[in-house]
Amino acid sequence: MNKKDNSDFSSKMKALNDLIQNSRNIVFFWGAWVSTESWVPDFRSKDWLYNQHDIQFDHYQPEYLLSHSCLYNEPQVFFEYYRQKLDCRGIKPNITHYKLAELEKAGKVSAVITQNIDGLHQSAWSEKVIELHGTTQKVYCDTCNKNYNSDFLFTDKRAIPFCTCGGIVRPDVTLYEESLPSDAWNNAMQAIAKADLFIIGWTSLTVYPANTLVQFFRWKHLVIINKDPTPQDQFAELVFHENLGKVFEKVEIR
Ligand SMILES: [Zn+2]
Repeated sequence: MNKKDNSDFSSKMKALNDLIQNSRNIVFFWGAWVSTESWVPDFRSKDWLYNQHDIQFDHYQPEYLLSHSCLYNEPQVFFEYYRQKLDCRGIKPNITHYKLAELEKAGKVSAVITQNIDGLHQSAWSEKVIELHGTTQKVYCDTCNKNYNSDFLFTDKRAIPFCTCGGIVRPDVTLYEESLPSDAWNNAMQAIAKADLFIIGWTSLTVYPANTLVQFFRWKHLVIINKDPTPQDQFAELVFHENLGKVFEKVEIR
């Protein structure tokens, strides 16, 4: 990084910290990548899935392996994949998760809307979390709705984890072909509409639901943090093309 970039970054951080200082209803919206900095892979990130195929998954599309069709037509494939790739146990929150929790404690945050399914915001003690795609931390029977410990899917030794009632025990995540949980969607829309500062991180803002949700924010201050430019950059007051962690380690809690 040259000197100019450095001073640009410092002046943008000052502007961001001033915005945070002057806001009361901050809403954060994270695409699927906030946790990549804690080593939870993004499902469609080519650095991960496409380059580290296990042989038996080679002839499947990545989206299919996390789809409703796969769970119900080839459940043994679904659970093998889930167990190998989506075991979030033992993964710790990173600086971004912790800073958001501190901002919430300081009374600044009205919602953290996330497409991540790892539960790391809650591990860092955020409470106002809206999980648009559900969470791996909740597990239930699709037939009798009985709740199971999230470890069950990993500790049960059967190829397909069945409930005592005969139903399939599945994670409470929104799979491809399934609709987003309507409560989460409605809460997200309402929070965004009322936000005085909207900070969007790590989404290209080109695919549903991010491209739709951003339209509910019509006024005041928009900040975008993404590794690449997005179509909404022109509307933002501040744009960072940086890792979330680099920005959030400099966020001040005043
Ligand atoms: Zn059951």
